[in-house]
Order: sequence, then structure tokens, then C-alpha cells
Amino acid sequence: MFPSLFAKEPKAGKSLLPLLLVAVLVVLPVLAYLAWYLPSVGLIHIHPLLPWLAGLIIGGTVLFFCFGLTLLLLTLVTGKDLLLTDSLRRFIIKYLLPGILGLGQLLRLDPERLQNAFISLNNQLVRAAMKPLAAREVMILLPHCLQRSDCPVKITGNLNQCLRCGRCAIMELIDLARAKGVELAVVTGGTLARKVISQRRPKLIVAVACERDLVSGIRDAWPLPVIALINERPEGPCVNTRVDVAQVARILEEQIATGIP
Ligand code: SF4
Repeated sequence: MFPSLFAKEPKAGKSLLPLLLVAVLVVLPVLAYLAWYLPSVGLIHIHPLLPWLAGLIIGGTVLFFCFGLTLLLLTLVTGKDLLLTDSLRRFIIKYLLPGILGLGQLLRLDPERLQNAFISLNNQLVRAAMKPLAAREVMILLPHCLQRSDCPVKITGNLNQCLRCGRCAIMELIDLARAKGVELAVVTGGTLARKVISQRRPKLIVAVACERDLVSGIRDAWPLPVIALINERPEGPCVNTRVDVAQVARILEEQIATGIP
């Protein structure tokens, strides 16, 4: 019913983010040098060792950032998760990447393309790190705007209320979740999403939403992995949105191990 026209695993960011990372890797050491050099002229009059100390602190911080950025760049280019440890992964997803996206906004780059880049990288990292799961450990998380705005029933909280008219993707997604044995939840916003996640405690979330909500959701859900699918909004934001159900099914097939109860 919902053709591949609506497939929206992000791809646009694949070239944008590496370019932004290379730019930061070039500019950051120059800025760090200036940040060290200018005050060091005054610091040397206070104590001859102070410029060295400042150099160590600034240089160490910049090296750490450049190391993280380089790993991120290599991860993007090779498609392999090279982020070594969970704490480095956390630092990059929670802090470094949003910082770079903020920089992109300062440079007046299209925020949607930047968010797309973030989502694309996140999906790549999650896929590279995930081991196959049992179906019951996976949850599909949907926004309520997938439901037709003129639908007479309220399905958030009780999916059985769906009258199965087939006018939106909800019916097919309910069927898919039942067939695969995965959890399914429809939420009205971040607060309800957090509540559902803490109640059901999945090991992987397949989330559908707009770029902005997916970016904040991915960060909020950390360390829980999220594979994110951007919805289509043919009638504008937050109303009668769509998603390619076949794409959701493909993600489930890829992540769920056969034979695990
Ligand atoms: S498929 Fe279900 S949720 Fe969607 S419009 Fe029909 S009754 Fe409402």
C-alpha cells in the first residue's frame, strides 16, 4: 500500500558530514594554536612554565577531539564501527556530533541535511555494533501523526482500537509487529516515548519520526540503540505522515535472529 517512494533511510548526509568533519579537523588545530599563542604572551610574564602548561591542556584536548573526529570520519568512510569503546561512542553521539551539527548551523548549512547526516551515521554505527536479537527484544516506536487525522479512534495506549480501515500505515505496522513478535508503540511525543521505553526495556528501537525528533530521540535514548527511519510528510509536518512498511520489515529481518525465542 505504501510504495518504496516513501523509503526514507537517510542518505543525503553521507557526503555532507565527512566534508564537515574534514573542515573541523583542519580548522580546529589552527584555532587551538591561536587560543594558546595569544594568552601565552602574557602568561610567560607570570611564570615561564605557564605557557607550557596551557599548551599541554589545550593540545591534549585538541588531540582528543581530533582523534574522535578521525575515528568518526573513518567510520563514515569505511562503514565499519571503529569507535573502539562505548564511552568514546557515547562522547561522539551525545556531545561531539551535536557540536558539529551546531557548527554546521552556524555556517548556515541546511539543518535538515545535517540532521539527516546525524541519523545516517547513527544507523551505520548501530548496525555495525548490533548482534542479532530475539524478536521480543525489539520495539517499533511510531509517532501518532502516522494515524489519519480524521481517524475516529485513539490508538495511542491501545493499538487494538484500530478499526483496520487501511487508510494509514498503522494497520500494516500492527500486522507486521504481530507477525514478527516485536513490541509496537505509538507515542504522542518524547515524554511518552521515554515512559514506554522505560516500561518495556527493549534492546533495540526501530523509530519512525521527523528528522528533528529522531535526532533528539537518539540522544535521549542513549545507550539504547535506535535505528531511525525518517517519515514522509506529503501534507506538511505532523499530519497524515507516512512510512514505508516494507522498509521497517527489512530492518526487523536484518536485526532479528531466527531461532531465538
Ligand atoms: S488504519 Fe487504523 S489507525 Fe489508521 S485510519 Fe484506519 S482505523 Fe485509524
